[in-house]
Amino acid sequence: KNIHGLVKSIRQHATRPMKFMEVCGTHTMSIFRHGIRSLLPDCIELVSGPGCPVCVTGQDDIDRMTGLCSKKGVIIATFGDMIRVPGSRTSLAEARALGARVEIVYSPSNALQLALKNPGQQVIFLGLGFETTAPAVAATILQANAMNVDNFSVYSCHKVMPPVLETLFQDNDLRVDGLLCPGHVSTIIGARAYEDFCSDFHIPCVIAGFEPLDIFRGIYHLVRQARAGQARVENVYERAVTSEGNRNALDLMDKVFVKEDASWRGLGIIKKSGLGISDKFSHLDAKKRFKIQTTATRMIKGCICGKIIKANARPADCPFFAETCTPANPVGPCMVSSEGACAAYYRYGGHVKS
Ligand code: SF4
Repeated sequence: KNIHGLVKSIRQHATRPMKFMEVCGTHTMSIFRHGIRSLLPDCIELVSGPGCPVCVTGQDDIDRMTGLCSKKGVIIATFGDMIRVPGSRTSLAEARALGARVEIVYSPSNALQLALKNPGQQVIFLGLGFETTAPAVAATILQANAMNVDNFSVYSCHKVMPPVLETLFQDNDLRVDGLLCPGHVSTIIGARAYEDFCSDFHIPCVIAGFEPLDIFRGIYHLVRQARAGQARVENVYERAVTSEGNRNALDLMDKVFVKEDASWRGLGIIKKSGLGISDKFSHLDAKKRFKIQTTATRMIKGCICGKIIKANARPADCPFFAETCTPANPVGPCMVSSEGACAAYYRYGGHVKS
């Protein structure tokens, strides 16, 4: 079916109000960018989930990362979005303005190169992201280990998707009729990774890509399942996602990382939802190599990012949204990150308060 045919079928099958969660920040952006909501019937509501890696990083981890800036002889290497995320007292950008060396990199291997070019300095790469980015970080750690690089380490805040979905859906207040599962993460973990979640919580799960046609296909299959009272894992991103996932990437992650409890914004500590660096590579683990002093964590006053991540609120519910908080002057991480729900709502027209 083409988009026109899918929209027609969605309208035919959506005979009652239905709410679907798109888990991935890239889906959120694509839905806005392509005006997908405007073609859906009014009874279908799309809400954003916990798929933006910068947004879900716990405030305590942000504080530890900014705390690393104060170490002498340290270069912090980070992806660009992280630099403006406010910690309890400061951000990486503010620390840089005060003299800390914070460099934006585009890949973990860029960070390793930075270490090789600066032998007298310790380069700490801030590793954020889900199963999509973790394999490249694992490969870089293996490379640094093989090369005996002694001035490179990783602060790993990597997270895995299934445990957070389970935590979210244990909340009885969350009323969602189906999940548009994250395309990128699914290329790594495979469709099978959602089976237990799908049957335990009786939630329709559809894996979709990011083009408008992919998203409409995903929504169409969600509507059909929800209407029929079914809960199955369907993969409509067959060109990229297999049932088993990417074995090479999973093996890389298994070699380097171990599952550990992780801190999530708005959700607290979720058991075995993070990827820590295994003891075998502790010499490349910034959490073990550097003593990080932090003071008590303070949440950003008034920011409701924690609720937005859990789909308990929408960006426009925040009193700061589009007033004091904009992409040019972000107050919280959901406005800082290019994949954040607040940034998506603001950039693509949702900023008009109603
Ligand atoms: Fe936080 Fe700004 Fe979003 Fe409000 S609009 S929730 S302050 S990021």
